[in-house]
Amino acid sequence: CGIVGYIGERQAQQILTNGLQKLEYRGYDSAGVAIFNGEKMEICKSKGRLAVLEERLVQSPIRGSLGIGHTRWATHGRPSDENSHPHTDESGKFSVVHNGIIENYLEIKQELLDHGVTFTSETDTEVIAHLIAVLYEGDLVAAVRNAVLRMRGAYALGVVCEYEPDKMVAVRLASPLIIGVGKGENFIGSDISAVLEHTRDIVILEDGEMAVLKKDSVSLMKVETSEPLQRELFRVDWN
Ligand code: GLU
Repeated sequence: CGIVGYIGERQAQQILTNGLQKLEYRGYDSAGVAIFNGEKMEICKSKGRLAVLEERLVQSPIRGSLGIGHTRWATHGRPSDENSHPHTDESGKFSVVHNGIIENYLEIKQELLDHGVTFTSETDTEVIAHLIAVLYEGDLVAAVRNAVLRMRGAYALGVVCEYEPDKMVAVRLASPLIIGVGKGENFIGSDISAVLEHTRDIVILEDGEMAVLKKDSVSLMKVETSEPLQRELFRVDWN
């Protein structure tokens, strides 16, 4: 039920768990993060309170400055470690966090099963990670866009990939997602509270829009046409 993401120069772990704390009020049954450790995407996730995840991360911290985090409110598949987000493809190179419901996930799942893909969870979300991996031809933005064009339902997504650790891709349809614009760092969040301790400069992603975040830039485009979009920053002046 909550998403956060970070790309920049600082350590992502604490920024992600702090952001998830701010989103706890939305309710959740599990929590997790994926952080790029310089070599690969490392995942830590767990059913239960955010404190359980934080405890695990204190025991075995993940160092890295690109990451996504999630608090889950289960809709497809019971609350469990396996069903917690982030979800990955088989290679573990693509990681996805998702809020919402993919209505046609069974149809996509069947196609992926026919393709020989093995699933490790019962979620609708896992199909997104596999679909992006199958569609990937060296361009993460194109793969995410093509995956999203196949999906029906409601989604806010944060996607990262080991092949392109200079970026994070975010998409939204009928589920909230905002971008926090910093200096040499950028954020995504389900709402402003998740990023407010770091920046007051916000870009509100609208339905059917995609964003590509790098540490020094944020670019927006329309999913349907891949046409680039300009959007004014919204400056938060309340506390
Ligand atoms: N439908 C997804 C799941 O059950 C995402 C739920 C959410 O929005 O947290 O895993």
